[in-house]
Amino acid sequence: MVTRLYSHPIYLEHLTTIGHPERPDRLRALSKVLEDSTFDALDRVQSPMGDEATILYAHPETFLERVRSMIPETGLTRVDSDTTVSPKSWEAALTAIGAANAAVDDVFAGRADNVFVASRPPGHHAERDKAMGFCLFNNAAIAARHAQKAYGIERVAIVDWDVHHGNGTQDIFWDDPSVLYSSTHQMPLYPGTGAKDETGAGNIVNAPLSPQTGSDHFREAFNTRILPAIDAFQPELVIISAGFDAHHRDPLAEINLFEDDFDWATGALMERAGSYASNRLVSLLEGGYDLKGMSLSAGAHIRRLMGG
Ligand SMILES: [Zn+2]
Repeated sequence: MVTRLYSHPIYLEHLTTIGHPERPDRLRALSKVLEDSTFDALDRVQSPMGDEATILYAHPETFLERVRSMIPETGLTRVDSDTTVSPKSWEAALTAIGAANAAVDDVFAGRADNVFVASRPPGHHAERDKAMGFCLFNNAAIAARHAQKAYGIERVAIVDWDVHHGNGTQDIFWDDPSVLYSSTHQMPLYPGTGAKDETGAGNIVNAPLSPQTGSDHFREAFNTRILPAIDAFQPELVIISAGFDAHHRDPLAEINLFEDDFDWATGALMERAGSYASNRLVSLLEGGYDLKGMSLSAGAHIRRLMGG
């Protein structure tokens, strides 16, 4: 397996309020884990700046302009109660989108079997017309649309194992059966969506997990809901919204996963990508707020991507 890793120093310059969990140190912690020699074979590439027009794949132009107009010259501007923008946030967000789209290009061009994008800000809470939950634009949704437009594929599966439901991705693809959105997440928890009976056009598969559950329930949700949905859908590309806040150390939720669970889920999705999508798999960092839990889990995920 050739695994590519996208990162960029601009991601450290998207600033949040002091004490905010979604902070630049998350990426510094991950970089440190990836210094280990087991990651020597990673194909490390600096993220390219994205094309602004691709934002419109998932969001209206009025929204794009609204976000742009909020970028301050100094300090922070609040976009919603827990989401801020700083002077470099536009460039960071556009570079997160650029890396997600480049990752799609890489797996279709055969430059990599799979790709991990270590970016911020995250994206899965960003709805068509609303930035929220630390997210400005929906990176996964834009990348899925990019794959359909640039490579003419019909079916993309987005699997979201962040502990929070990806209300934004669900919103964007609610009536679009060409994209399967499947999610495990704690319920009840922010943002409140993600019930089993939210099924969109039959393309939304939610597998909510009760607080204080762990590996067994997570794997059961994968085995009974997520993986069968993928098998029925037969995606030509698999995108993972890879949040690591279901880790037992995470301060924002009460699901008790371990690094090994992310390794396992990665392997299961790689198998499906192998069966239906010529291995094409793109993984985008979403949440994960305990520096150790997030960085070790992402490390286990990336190690599995490399190992097959
Ligand atoms: Zn999350």
